[in-house]
Amino acid sequence: MSSIDDVGTDSVEEAAPYIGLLDIFVLSACFGLGVYWFFFKGKKKEEPIDIKNYNIAAPMTKAVDSSFIQKMKTTHKNIIIFYGSQTGTAEEFAGRLAKDAQRLGMKALIQDPEECEMEDLTSIKEIENSFAIFCMATYGEGDPTDNSQEFYDWLQDGTADLDGLKFAVFGLGNKTYEHYNEMGKFVDKKLEELGGERLFDLGLGDDDGNMEDDFVTWKEQFWPSVCEHFGVEATGDESSIRQYAVVVREDIPEEKIYTGEPARLNSLKKQKGPFDTKNPFVSRVQTNRELHHGGERSCMHIEFDITDSKIRYESGDHVAVYPINNANLVNGIAKILDQNLDVVFSLNNVDEEASKKHPFPCPCTYRTALSFYLDITNCPRTNVLKDISEYCSDPKDKEFLLKISSATPEGKKEYSDWVVKSHRNILAILEDIPSCKPPLDHLCELLPRLQARYYSISSSPKLHPNSIHITAVLVEYKTLTNRTNLGVATSWLKDKIPNGPENAPKVPVYVRKSQFRLPFKHTVPVIMIGPGTGLAPFRGFIQERSALRKDGKDVGETVLFFGCRKASEDFIYQDELKEYVNNGTLTDMFVAFSRDQEKKRYVQDLLKEEADTVWKLIEKGAHIYVCGDARNMAPDVLKTIRGIITEKGELTSSAAEDYLKKMQSKGRYSCDVWS
Ligand code: NAP
Repeated sequence: MSSIDDVGTDSVEEAAPYIGLLDIFVLSACFGLGVYWFFFKGKKKEEPIDIKNYNIAAPMTKAVDSSFIQKMKTTHKNIIIFYGSQTGTAEEFAGRLAKDAQRLGMKALIQDPEECEMEDLTSIKEIENSFAIFCMATYGEGDPTDNSQEFYDWLQDGTADLDGLKFAVFGLGNKTYEHYNEMGKFVDKKLEELGGERLFDLGLGDDDGNMEDDFVTWKEQFWPSVCEHFGVEATGDESSIRQYAVVVREDIPEEKIYTGEPARLNSLKKQKGPFDTKNPFVSRVQTNRELHHGGERSCMHIEFDITDSKIRYESGDHVAVYPINNANLVNGIAKILDQNLDVVFSLNNVDEEASKKHPFPCPCTYRTALSFYLDITNCPRTNVLKDISEYCSDPKDKEFLLKISSATPEGKKEYSDWVVKSHRNILAILEDIPSCKPPLDHLCELLPRLQARYYSISSSPKLHPNSIHITAVLVEYKTLTNRTNLGVATSWLKDKIPNGPENAPKVPVYVRKSQFRLPFKHTVPVIMIGPGTGLAPFRGFIQERSALRKDGKDVGETVLFFGCRKASEDFIYQDELKEYVNNGTLTDMFVAFSRDQEKKRYVQDLLKEEADTVWKLIEKGAHIYVCGDARNMAPDVLKTIRGIITEKGELTSSAAEDYLKKMQSKGRYSCDVWS
């Protein structure tokens, strides 16, 4: 992938994208887009997976479990760890901090902010030596995660008195996004403003760099400081702690064994709405076709049938796909650990007070656990490597695993090179450290949950009320160890080829609302910038506007900036797009082929060339939308638009920045980007 430096600033040559051919079509357009604690061992940890639909206005149900103060009192725990988690990492970090606390002789409660009354933080001082740790992920464009939305609103309200609250925050973010770690910073600042006492500096984890390294480095300083504050003498017990006990279930009736349901037993067989993150709808794949013409890559257009599901979606929403891990990987792990995959087992929390009883739905077979519930494709984190080191028969192997899981500079570098850069998943690690034979049940406890994969929906419900379309590039690459790694979801979807309506492959899905929306008024111009699969949501936008025009509605200028490698290979949806230009739905379409000439040509080059048109549309109130790569493309495009505003609006750079910020706050510059 190219860097910012690859972007030609002098991009004039070979202009003329698509629309150049079609000047007959009129008008261009304009645009506008966390001791007393301590004491003794106990074990705990907690549960749920995150992701709730923040756009759904229904009030959150807070049950039985809601007073964490009461729970802390009855279980004699004085540390509480909250997590705002979207993909499970913040929850995983909360679990690791709780284990650390236990090793240090303290007891911690883990809590999902969505499942308790966060207002109780005002009375946490009732508990002697209480301490709250917050692991807060930032989601999307600087937003709180779904499970911390309500906590965020409460903090924002700013009326709580948090005097007596001792806290520390670790934020999880990604530097490729504009609002880096916004939620961690916000919570850290707000808790202090409301009277809380910060016991340790805010920690910031960058997923674009090395989140594991950032977390381990922060923890290295954090725990000694916390121990000192509370007068706790660290025991130095480095042994692995089992949080769950394995029970083999030989006589359990088949109908009581989980077979891959995200939560409710038999939910995939006996479908009952409403469908959400814990209860996906099993759709049928209607269409699965290749969009690329040649070249080495594959891009799939897939249509999921949602007839009778009562699922409603809007253009710009995301669809979650629940994939199954590759069977070769699952079988490989079983073979190397000499474990029968058909054994039915449960992992039961040894802490009876914990609200999370199992790490994933149990009882199930090892096959089900490895196929549906556990992430076996990503690089295992250092805590996993440290715990499995105990099962090495060769002391050298043990030493190596302990080294790469340590927080020493050498250990971190080796982890980065040997694990991360070499893309070693758990199977590759077990293959390359042959004397390491952890029991599969321990591994099942250690590995994180397999997450659903989200795709920008590439259809409009106006045209396709009963189906959801996605546009996905197959992820497949060779690693430094010469292994072929496959993307979990795309490699699974690749084989979902329909063969008549009766034999349609099934894929569990649910729709997640987004804020990436066309303007409420149809007459407002839109500028859509989406190279590669960034085109996906815009296909839905264009369909939407086409349907409105067919209904006789007055629709504003609709302008697309698209980019791909070669006109002959990856100009996806080419025919549809040309037809939209021909029938006037697309007022203008500009396409940059990056590899059809010597010098790279990107969407931002086109934006510069069309600066007058872009500025006219912005002045006219246009909404600008950007979708695709977060690392390079989105910042480059932002810079270009800022430049256009400065130049054409004859503004100083700070005035142009204010102008852009205003556009963003008014929803006139929106991004749906990924890295
Ligand atoms: P792509 O085919 O890799 O790229 C589309 C076009 O954008 C190409 O012409 C490419 O040119 C160009 N481009 C490269 N750098 C650019 C920049 N700084 N500014 C503007 N255009 C630029 O697109 P894709 O396959 O859709 O993937 C786009 C990115 O998103 C990739 O980084 C991919 O890894 C990521 N992605 C992530 C997910 C996810 O779910 N996390 C899903 C899909 C894609 P050249 O290649 O010729 O330089």
